[in-house]
Amino acid sequence: MDTILVVNAGSSSVKFQVFALDGDGRLRREIKGQMDGIGSRPRLRATGATGDTLADRAYPIESVQDVPGALMLASAWLRDELQLSPLAVGHRVVHGGPDYDRAVLIDHGVIARLERFTTLAPLHQPHNLAPIRSLLANFPALPQVACFDTAFHRDHDQVADHYAIPRGLHDEGIRRYGFHGLSYEYIAKTLPQVAPDIAKARVVVAHLGSGASMCAIHGGRSVESTMGFTALDGLPMGTRTGQIDPGVILYLMTAKGMSPPEVQNFLYRDCGLKGLSGISNDMRELQNSSDPRAAFAIDYFVYRVALHAGMLAAALQGVDAFVFTAGIGENSVGIRARIAERLAWLGVTLDPTENARHALRISRADSRTPVYVVPTDEELMIAQHTLSLLLNRHSSSRPKRERAS
Ligand code: ADP
Repeated sequence: MDTILVVNAGSSSVKFQVFALDGDGRLRREIKGQMDGIGSRPRLRATGATGDTLADRAYPIESVQDVPGALMLASAWLRDELQLSPLAVGHRVVHGGPDYDRAVLIDHGVIARLERFTTLAPLHQPHNLAPIRSLLANFPALPQVACFDTAFHRDHDQVADHYAIPRGLHDEGIRRYGFHGLSYEYIAKTLPQVAPDIAKARVVVAHLGSGASMCAIHGGRSVESTMGFTALDGLPMGTRTGQIDPGVILYLMTAKGMSPPEVQNFLYRDCGLKGLSGISNDMRELQNSSDPRAAFAIDYFVYRVALHAGMLAAALQGVDAFVFTAGIGENSVGIRARIAERLAWLGVTLDPTENARHALRISRADSRTPVYVVPTDEELMIAQHTLSLLLNRHSSSRPKRERAS
């Protein structure tokens, strides 16, 4: 069986999926797996296409020391027990910096370039790159593809790409990149099939998961994002602040004596729904709680989503449709209803029955602005990019030329 391996490597876990290539060139998901507890309690879990358990086993701590080690172990399991040797590996890489506006076939030069962007995403980029480096060293003939969370947004207009800082800093890379690009690209590519009426229109997509952002899409292209230089900006998330006055950071450092690593940890891990509620970063838990702090965290989340919808509507000069996706967007009837209520001024009227049954279109037939729920699939997007680069090796490792500013 010809397969593509998709890898999403984090600091203490490696998620992977295996896609089989049909005779007609289509990709079919065969396996979903995860190595977690790296450095503490390593565990491999994997399920097949129908959700059947293929593996659930613990390993001694010393057998899985780091992220590359975890991927090696998962690859050995695929090879030795399932006789699967992928044709290519597609990796989720958080940052393509200013250079990459599309996925790229990896070689040593590409890795060197991507290493330069580590300072732009210190919590993610090193973990994304480590298994790539290790696979390149151990299997130099195995094609690997990097797929970026930033790439889909690289076409933004200059005014959307800049901060009001001296231009030299922009040239150095301090820009509004935007993230969750693989999710938005998947939605943009899926709309022509699931909602052809709005595929070419002005659409606000809300990716509401543990990480949350929103994207303004026009004619299938990203125009604006709520995230910027890092994945901290915009909406409040499970544990991240979302938009915050930079003066607060200065205050934390000067008045509270917090060091830069402490501030970083605080902004990424202690804020958002968790910080506001003091209970949980998980939306389900908050919805099930009777604690008024949980209710307040939800109120804040809903308010901020609606506030940013207004900003994106301004970027698009109007909204023709609204799309919910990711964990909260795809599953929470209540949060969708509350956000839609706040979007009434944009012409949104939800159909409670359709919303409750998670229909594709959850707005009323007479809603001026239709609202959709479209499940995202970032892994399929990565597999598709990997396959197309594999089939078309020539357009490989050249970064996009910078546009004149
Ligand atoms: P990520 O991939 O960023 O880890 P997900 O897209 O899986 O995150 O989203 C996780 C979030 O989705 C969590 O806050 C979780 O509580 C929320 N979620 C999942 N299912 C539901 C549900 N039925 N109702 C409310 N929230 C849900």
